Amino acid sequence: MEYGLRLMDSQNITKQPHSWGRYPKVKHSQVQSIYWRNELPDIAQLKGTALPFAYGRSYGDSCLNEGGISLDVSHLQRFISFDEKTGLLRCEAGISLAEILEVLVPRGWFLPVSPGTKFVSVGGAIANDIHGKNHHRSGTFGCHVTCFELLRSNGERLLCSPEHNSEMFRATIGGLGLTGLILWAEFRLKPIVNPYIDMDHIRFASLDEFFEISAESDADYEYTMSWVDILIGGKNLCRGIFMRGNHNLSRQLEPVKKRLPLAVPIDFPSFMLNSLSVKAFNELYYHKQVPKRVHKIVSYDPFFYPLDSIHDWYRMYGKRGFLQYQFVIPFEEGHHAMREILARIRRSGEGSFLTVLKTFGDIASPGMLSFPRPGLTLALDFAYDGQKTLRLLEDLDHIVLQSGGAVYPAKDARMSAESFQAFFPGWKEFSAYVDPKFSSSFWRRVTAVVPDSVDNQGDPELTRIGDTIR
Ligand SMILES: Cc1cc2nc3c(=O)[nH]c(=O)nc-3n(C[C@H](O)[C@H](O)[C@H](O)COP(=O)(O)OP(=O)(O)OC[C@H]3O[C@@H](n4cnc5c(N)ncnc54)[C@H](O)[C@@H]3O)c2cc1C
Repeated sequence: MEYGLRLMDSQNITKQPHSWGRYPKVKHSQVQSIYWRNELPDIAQLKGTALPFAYGRSYGDSCLNEGGISLDVSHLQRFISFDEKTGLLRCEAGISLAEILEVLVPRGWFLPVSPGTKFVSVGGAIANDIHGKNHHRSGTFGCHVTCFELLRSNGERLLCSPEHNSEMFRATIGGLGLTGLILWAEFRLKPIVNPYIDMDHIRFASLDEFFEISAESDADYEYTMSWVDILIGGKNLCRGIFMRGNHNLSRQLEPVKKRLPLAVPIDFPSFMLNSLSVKAFNELYYHKQVPKRVHKIVSYDPFFYPLDSIHDWYRMYGKRGFLQYQFVIPFEEGHHAMREILARIRRSGEGSFLTVLKTFGDIASPGMLSFPRPGLTLALDFAYDGQKTLRLLEDLDHIVLQSGGAVYPAKDARMSAESFQAFFPGWKEFSAYVDPKFSSSFWRRVTAVVPDSVDNQGDPELTRIGDTIR
């Protein structure tokens, strides 16, 4: 299977890795591909710092290592073992969730947690401790990982689990690829009866109504999320379509017929995306569904991965790329913070096509740097328009910070060291587990010394902890 961001093209020429948002654009000194678990490079001998890279479905710079080495792990894609009684799967870390679904859905198994695209690797799912539509029921991906093998740059291969090397286990889950290279991982799948989902779409006209439907749905529905229109203004704050679903339990349904994905063949000109086109799109999408409530049985693919039906959709944002901004704020602050955030976005005149609203439940994330925590989470896409976009997101950071929330590193390309260190107070504890040879563009930025920070005064160790090699 090809996912577009593999680093070798048909002539076997190594390409420069880029992230999904294509911002920032960086150059690596070298791309080192890894093919076999028993033929591993001597990472300590490589010139410069290294960072694993799988399918580049991270939006910003957490999967990039400017000026350093990118370790392409996407060729480590073999199944190792599967226990049909317990659902325990052991596989190499470069295998994608798409490949796992293709093999195991027909045998009656599904992923414990899945993001909005299936083209991510198991290693990437662990390194960002990803979340899905079932966070309120199942927590993050890391909650289902039983063990993995981690290659450190000194050649050590550590078996990590809640029992062995347990602190390294906690550091690597959500550890942004900085603790070493995950070679293989084991995690538990869940049984399903067929590949279909019983799905409801419910239109809502305000944030209050979203909260009502969400509260009523959490107990009975495994999967929930909403598409939202945030440009409506007024006291309703937003409107949207609430989507919820459960695995279908019928034994009579036909196997799923495959549909070929479309692709975006060219970079769209940036003038095509502006707040007017976003408003027009929102209007059409919101009214596409005429009745307030629609019930359907659909295959898992369009339910979980509607965006995967258009390959390379990032090209719609043009050559300059785009930034995704995802934050979580505690429920207590939900209304107030959302009002401020949406007002700031409206003032900026920027629009977001793909705005997704969800609630996180209270299942604790296992990683030291995991992002999910109880609260309201909103993800927005903004075409990159230079300083204007960066200033907007900086202002949003301040509101999120004041609300006691956090911004998601997997989607970030610009948050300041000060913001990161406040969002993730566990970062100092985590730093002790970073492999001295590993680094990323993201890590160097967010571990820079924060000026005038009371926290950092007199602690020279905190000077660019992530940058000890370069
Ligand atoms: C359309 C779309 C929808 C998305 N929806 C969601 C969502 O609903 N929830 C969510 O949480 N995320 C979501 N994401 C983000 C995505 O799930 C994460 O960024 C994921 O980590 C990407 O995985 P990847 O395999 O492409 O890894 P990359 O982006 O290539 O790398 C991600 C990180 O993993 C590290 N890494 C990769 N492989 C290894 C390895 N073998 N060993 C050690 N470290 C490794 C890299 O160093 C990097 O830090 C979405 C992304 C897209 C494009």
